[in-house]
Amino acid sequence: MTSGPHIPQERRLVTAIPGPKSQEWLARRSEATSAGLGMAIPVFVAQAGGGVIVDIDGNSIIDMAAGIATVNVGNSADRVVENVIAQVQSFTHTCFTVAPYSGYVEVCEALNRMAPGTFKKKSLLVNSGAEAVENAVKIARAYTKRAAVVVFEHAYHGRTNLTMAMTAKNIPYKEGFGPFAPEVYRMPMAYPYRWLGDKNNVAQEALDMVLHKIEKEIGAHNVAAIVIEPIQGEGGFVVPPKGFLPGLAAFAKANGALFIADEVQTGFARTGKMFAVEDEGVEPDIVVTAKGIGGGLPLGGITGRAEVMDAAVVSGVGGTFGGNPVACAAALGAFATIEEDGLAAKAAHMGEIIGAALAKMKEKYAIVGDVRGRGAMQALELIIPGSDEPNTKAMQDAVKYCQQHGVLVLTAGTYSNVIRLLPPLVMPDALLIEALGILDDALAAASA
Ligand SMILES: *Cc1c(COP(=O)(O)O)cnc(C)c1O
Repeated sequence: MTSGPHIPQERRLVTAIPGPKSQEWLARRSEATSAGLGMAIPVFVAQAGGGVIVDIDGNSIIDMAAGIATVNVGNSADRVVENVIAQVQSFTHTCFTVAPYSGYVEVCEALNRMAPGTFKKKSLLVNSGAEAVENAVKIARAYTKRAAVVVFEHAYHGRTNLTMAMTAKNIPYKEGFGPFAPEVYRMPMAYPYRWLGDKNNVAQEALDMVLHKIEKEIGAHNVAAIVIEPIQGEGGFVVPPKGFLPGLAAFAKANGALFIADEVQTGFARTGKMFAVEDEGVEPDIVVTAKGIGGGLPLGGITGRAEVMDAAVVSGVGGTFGGNPVACAAALGAFATIEEDGLAAKAAHMGEIIGAALAKMKEKYAIVGDVRGRGAMQALELIIPGSDEPNTKAMQDAVKYCQQHGVLVLTAGTYSNVIRLLPPLVMPDALLIEALGILDDALAAASA
């Protein structure tokens, strides 16, 4: 399996975290960069590939973040590097809407082929996930000639003005940044662990509530689109129970609204299928992609029914950098890696290892309230033992323990109590098992 710069696949600590060189750069970072930028691990990166990040002090850290599900194919994956080098040596930018080039068309052809649904599809490329979500909403409004956008509790769709309105959590994403875009309506999410009704009937109860609220509070005939992450990302890897997504898609279809799947975090083999909606055979009218699309280069995609994608007026969509040739070359390398190396099956295989390990942790530690996710996208929700109160401190302690032992894990969740795992799909099993062992130790320490 390709693993980019072929760095030894090992966990190795040679200094404390952060080491002295990282500390120097951390000081420069805080002088030079906006205080509004967060940081998951306080080390500066020298190299990354396969399942590890090597910092400038020489520590080799197991990467359970993949740049937030971005380097699904691993950092500097061979085919991505080859394509990028060839492209930068030919030309770096003409702007697709000034003078087009083949890479953009090839990425769109691949997205049209890979996205669920046998109907004719077309695509549009942009720079980021937020921009992709915005364009999906613009196109849905142009096609339906309606304004209302339905989103869900715990949703994350980005940081631009419209996508902040669509994102659920106030601190940190929205605090002080309003006023927000209108015509965005938030609905209850089918969140099994925290469902207050019948836990055996969450999908149906949630669906009934959502459809009732849409009818009474918006009017189904005013809805342009229902936008949902098939598994919520920043919101804490909330997995809607079977039936919820197909129910929403069927309602959208029956009422002339579009069903838009935000697959920015779940897409490109992450959950064991190319796209997470395939798990229940849902065929969205529009699939929104970014993160894992380009092996780490900035790119976003909007892929949908041809007649929907053609609803925008000429020059109504596009942008200076959208579908930049270097990013497109990278994406073609990433797609080849995912398909030829069978990374969807690899993600499913990793999911079995992760799922079994997390289930054991739930048995062993009373601070683990819930374990959920699919494939190489799984999480633990931590609680105060004997209650369902969120346990933010245990999350922070466990994450810190992991870092100090050379494992990078990310947090998530509306209640800031979720540890999420998003390893690169090229991580060797032994390294994954080692990282899960450290996480187990971290939970033991956080429980004490
Ligand atoms: C990260 C993310 C976005 C925003 O993507 P950016 O590239 O950061 O703008 C949108 N939706 C989901 C589900 C995401 O995880």
